[in-house]
Amino acid sequence: MTTLDEFMTALTGDSVADAVAEGRCLAAPVGCGAPVFNADGSLRHSDPDDDPEQYVAEWRLTGLCADCQDAHEADEEKAVERHTWACNAYMAHLDLMADLMTGEGE
Ligand SMILES: [Zn+2]
Repeated sequence: MTTLDEFMTALTGDSVADAVAEGRCLAAPVGCGAPVFNADGSLRHSDPDDDPEQYVAEWRLTGLCADCQDAHEADEEKAVERHTWACNAYMAHLDLMADLMTGEGE
């Protein structure tokens, strides 16, 4: 299907198409491999206040159950923080370089 899907199939022997067809999350380490729905057909999710339909739509695209989607979102937020930290460190580095250049000129 997609390149990402092919990558995951190579990595885990699993695919989004298989996971969706079987009503489960992708195999570890990408997902948790658990069923996406409860026995009564409702979405299995630790936070019932969230919109289940949005999670089901996302699962059909990514093969990740609601809890794994939340876990990945948390990872993305951490990645953004790291990115901000790296930018700040780079800016501090540029400031330091500018100071050094100025110092040399005097
Ligand atoms: Zn999962």
